[in-house]
Amino acid sequence: MFELSLKLNDLSQRGLRRSRRIIESPQDINLVCNGKGIVNFCSNDYLGLANHPNVINVFKKAADQWGVGSGSAHLICGHTSAHHALEEELAEFTRRDRALLFSTGYMANLGAISALVGRGDTVLEDRLNHASLLDGGLSSGAKFKRYTHADTGHLNELLAKSEGNSLIVTDGVFSMDGDTAPLKALSAVAKQHSAWLMVDDAHGFGVLGANGGGVTEEAGLSQDDVQVLVGTLGKAFGTFGAFVAGSEELIETLINTARTYIYTTALPASVAEATRASLKILRTESWRRERLKVLVERFRAGAAQLDLPLMPSSSPIQPVLVGLSEKASVASQYLFENGLLVSAIRPPTVPANAARLRVTFSALHEEAQVDQLLEALAKAIK
Ligand SMILES: *Cc1c(COP(=O)(O)O)cnc(C)c1O
Repeated sequence: MFELSLKLNDLSQRGLRRSRRIIESPQDINLVCNGKGIVNFCSNDYLGLANHPNVINVFKKAADQWGVGSGSAHLICGHTSAHHALEEELAEFTRRDRALLFSTGYMANLGAISALVGRGDTVLEDRLNHASLLDGGLSSGAKFKRYTHADTGHLNELLAKSEGNSLIVTDGVFSMDGDTAPLKALSAVAKQHSAWLMVDDAHGFGVLGANGGGVTEEAGLSQDDVQVLVGTLGKAFGTFGAFVAGSEELIETLINTARTYIYTTALPASVAEATRASLKILRTESWRRERLKVLVERFRAGAAQLDLPLMPSSSPIQPVLVGLSEKASVASQYLFENGLLVSAIRPPTVPANAARLRVTFSALHEEAQVDQLLEALAKAIK
C-alpha cells in the first residue's frame, strides 16, 4: 500500500503542502495570475532579461536558423557552433580555460561532483547548500560531510580527518539566505589540505562583481583558487541551462565522465543564441546591477524602520524570517490578496522553524513598488 493520501494529508496539516500558482503572462515584474495583475517579488530574473526584446528577437531568429530541437546529446550530434560559441564566451567571461554547457544547474552539480569524487574520497559541503549540491554529494559515493554554515574552522577539522581526494562544495550566494560564502578563507583552507573548491554561483552571476562575473570576480579568485565554477543561465541570464567553468583537464573529464552531461539531450541551439545575447547585455549594462543595489538598500532601510526580521544579506535575495511554516503560508497568501507575489519557503528547503518569505528584487522594480511591499509585509507578518 502506497497510502499517498495519508502522506499528503500529513503535509497539509503541518503547513508544508506545496502547490503551484498558474501564471498567465510572460516572466516580468508585473504578472497576471487568476486574471489579476500582481507584482512579482519572487523571481530569480534579477536583471530583467527573461522578457527582454533583444533576447527575444535573437531567440526567434535562431529558431528560424536552427529549428527547435537539438536532436541528441552533445556527444552524438547535438553540439552546434551556437553552443560552442557560447561556451567560448562563458570561458572568457569567467576567465577560465574552458566552459561546458549543461541542460540545467541541477544536472551540472550532480554531474560535476560525481565525476570528481567517488568511493574512497570525501566531499565536504556547507550545511545550507542548495539541494542539487547536497544530492550530488550524496549520490557520488564519496564520504559525505557537512560543515556548519560558512564555518571554515569546522571545515578545517573535517578536512584533517578526510580521506582520498577532498572536494569542498559551496553556494556562492546562498539561495535561501542571500549571504555570500567566505570564499577567500575557504580557498585558503582548501589549499592547506590540497583539496579542491567548487563554487555554485547560481545567484551571483550577472549580479555581483563590477562586470557581473559573480562572487569569484568580486573576491578576485582565479581558476587556481576555485577549481570548479558553476553558473546557471535561468536566473540573471534570463534564459535556461547552466555551465561549469575551469581547466582544460576538468572540462575534458566532464565531457568524458559526467553522466548528466553524456546521457541527456543538448539544450536547443536557439537557447544558446539567446543566452549569448543576454550575456552581452549583462556585461555592458552595469546600470542593472546599480539599480539592484539602490532597491536593496531602500528595502533594507525601510524594513529596519518597520522592525521586520531581515537576514544579513546585501544581495537581491532578501528573506524575511517568519519561523513557523503555517505563519509563512498565511503571510504569503495575504500578500497575494494584496497584489504582491512573494513565496513562502518552508522546510525541508530551509531548516525547521526557519520558514521565511523569500523576497527577491529585479533591476526593473520601481521604488514605489518597494514601498508598497514594505507596507504590506509589515501587516502580513503581524
Ligand atoms: C537554481 C539553483 C540551481 C539549479 O539550477 P537550475 O538550472 O534551475 O537547475 C543550482 N544551484 C543553486 C544554488 C540554485 O539556486
